[in-house]
Amino acid sequence: MRKKPDRYSGYFNRAMETMPPGEREDYQNHFLRKIIQYVHGHSPGIREKFRAAGITPEDIRTIRDLEKLPITEKASLISLQKKDPPFGGLLTTAHNRLRRIYLTPGPIFVPEARQSRYWRWETAFYSAGFRKGDIVQVTLSYHLSPGGWMLEEPLHCLGCTVIAAGVGDLDSQVKIMHELGVTGFVGMPSFLLSIGDHAESLGIDLKKDLSLEVSFLTIELLTEPMRNSIEKRFGIVARQGYGTAEVGAIAYECIENYGMHTADDLIVEIVDPETGKQLGPGEVGEVVVTLFNKAYSLIRFGTGDLSYYDDSPCPCGRTSARLPRLVGRVDQATKVRGVFIHASQTNQLMSRYPDIAKYHVVIAREEKGDEMTFYVELENEHIDRERLKVHLQVAIKQALKLRGKVEFIPKGSIQEGLKTIEDRRDWR
Ligand SMILES: [Zn+2]
Repeated sequence: MRKKPDRYSGYFNRAMETMPPGEREDYQNHFLRKIIQYVHGHSPGIREKFRAAGITPEDIRTIRDLEKLPITEKASLISLQKKDPPFGGLLTTAHNRLRRIYLTPGPIFVPEARQSRYWRWETAFYSAGFRKGDIVQVTLSYHLSPGGWMLEEPLHCLGCTVIAAGVGDLDSQVKIMHELGVTGFVGMPSFLLSIGDHAESLGIDLKKDLSLEVSFLTIELLTEPMRNSIEKRFGIVARQGYGTAEVGAIAYECIENYGMHTADDLIVEIVDPETGKQLGPGEVGEVVVTLFNKAYSLIRFGTGDLSYYDDSPCPCGRTSARLPRLVGRVDQATKVRGVFIHASQTNQLMSRYPDIAKYHVVIAREEKGDEMTFYVELENEHIDRERLKVHLQVAIKQALKLRGKVEFIPKGSIQEGLKTIEDRRDWR
C-alpha cells in the first residue's frame, strides 16, 4: 500500500506564499506597472478604457491608483464582445494562436492562451493537500465551459493522475471512485455528497471501501454544515477554492480553515461597486480583480461577488490577505449609510440565536438618515428581551459595521414570502 503523503506542511511556492506583506505590495505594484504598459500597447479595448477615463498608463503606479479606472463588469463583456468580436478588443494576440476557446453563459467567449499555468490553480491544490501520486476525479464539465480543463491542468503540474469524470451519471462516478482507488475529488460539495449517498445505497462504506483522502470543492459555496458532513462521512479534509470562468484562481483555503487566501499572481481589490473606491478590512464590497495576463487583459474586472478581506496573520504562514467568505452577489445587496448588506449576512447572524423564531429587516429613510430595524419574533416569549436586545445590537454592529435597531413583535406578524431585507426608502 502507498504510504500516505504529508499533505499539510510546506508550500507550492514558499517564496511567493510567505512573502512579507510590504514586499508583496512592492512586487504587485511592479508587475502592475509592467502589465499596464504591455496591455495598453497591445489591446485596443484597454486603450479605450484608459481614454474614456482620461488617464495614461503612467497614471497607474500602484494598486491604489487602480481607483482611477472604471470597473469592467462581467455583463459588459457581452456588449464589448458584440461590438468588437470575438473578444471585445481585450485579446492581445490573434485568436487562432490560442490553445482553447470556451463559450460560457452570457454568452461570453473565454480565451485560454498557450502558456503554462494559465489558470493558476496549482497553489490552491497544493494548499488543499493534493500531492504527487494522487488519483483525482475531476467532476466539472469539460464541455464549452473551462471548468474541467482549468482544474485538470494544475493537477498534472503537481504530478497527479486525472480522471476526467465530468458531470452526471452517479453509477460511473461511484465505480470510478471505488475501483480506481481515487484519492482526490474535485467538484461541487453537493455532488460529492450525492456520490456518497449513491455509494452507500450500493452497500459501499465511504471510509472503509473508498480511498478518498482529499477534496477540492468549488463552484458552489461550501457551507460549514456541508464541510462537516463531507469530512465526517468520508473521513477526509474538505477545502474550497474561489475563482471565475474568465479569471481562473482568485482565492483558496489552507488547512487552517481561516478563510480563503488571495492568490499571489493577480490583484484582488474589495471595492464599493458604485464609486469604485477601495474598501478597508472587514468592509463588504465587490471582488474586483486585475490579472497579470499578457494574452487577455482583464484590468479591474468586476466579478459581481461580494466579500470582505482580513489581513491579520494566518497560522499557516501564508501572508496574502484572506476572503473569509463570499457574502452574496452585488445585484442582490442593499446599501445602507454607505455599507452594503446582504440577506446571507443577516441570516448567518440571526441563526446564532436559538430564541429567535423569525426576523425581518426594514431599511427606512428617517430625518437623521437611513435607519435599519430588525423586527424579531421570538421562539419563547418569556426570555429576557432587554438582554437579548443589547446582545443583538452589539452583534449587528460587529457583523454589519452598522447600527441597527431591534424591535420585538408578536409571533405570526411577519408574512410568508417577504424579502428578508425590505428597502422602504423613497428613491424619487
Ligand atoms: Zn492560511
